[in-house]
Amino acid sequence: MIKNPARRGFFYCRFENIQKNFTFIQKISIMELTYICPHCKGAINAKRNIILAARSVKEKDNKGLVLLHEEIGNYAVAISSTLKVDSGDEVDFSCPICHSSLNSPKGDSLASFIRIENNEESNIVISRIYGERCTFQIDDKKKIKSYGESVSKFVDPEWFL
Ligand SMILES: [Zn+2]
Repeated sequence: MIKNPARRGFFYCRFENIQKNFTFIQKISIMELTYICPHCKGAINAKRNIILAARSVKEKDNKGLVLLHEEIGNYAVAISSTLKVDSGDEVDFSCPICHSSLNSPKGDSLASFIRIENNEESNIVISRIYGERCTFQIDDKKKIKSYGESVSKFVDPEWFL
């Protein structure tokens, strides 16, 4: 315990300043591009990557992190060394913060999360098949934009809304 009230005041001020700075930083990051988990609302992107926890559907011990480029339509991907996947392998995606599943309930091999850019929110739906390049972006008016050469596989993307 700090007995000197002047010193206590000093510490209190410092704390308040830190809090103010923290709110300021939070506001700035919301103005930028942010991807969030639909369950815990934690930001899942950093340094231009969307970070997802992945686990092979076939072998549950085959797991690791998958880093997707935050720019839609850029399919650059980085995978941690403990996850071994080949083209066509299916993975389950979960939030790296709260571990909730990000798999789309209606689609067999899709996952989704939220994108916020300049306070505009949209839903991003991606394939859970490694090597399959397809991304859907659904805005709050249910308007769908699609990206990637595997997108034609989904004739009617309405079904996952
Ligand atoms: Zn989460």
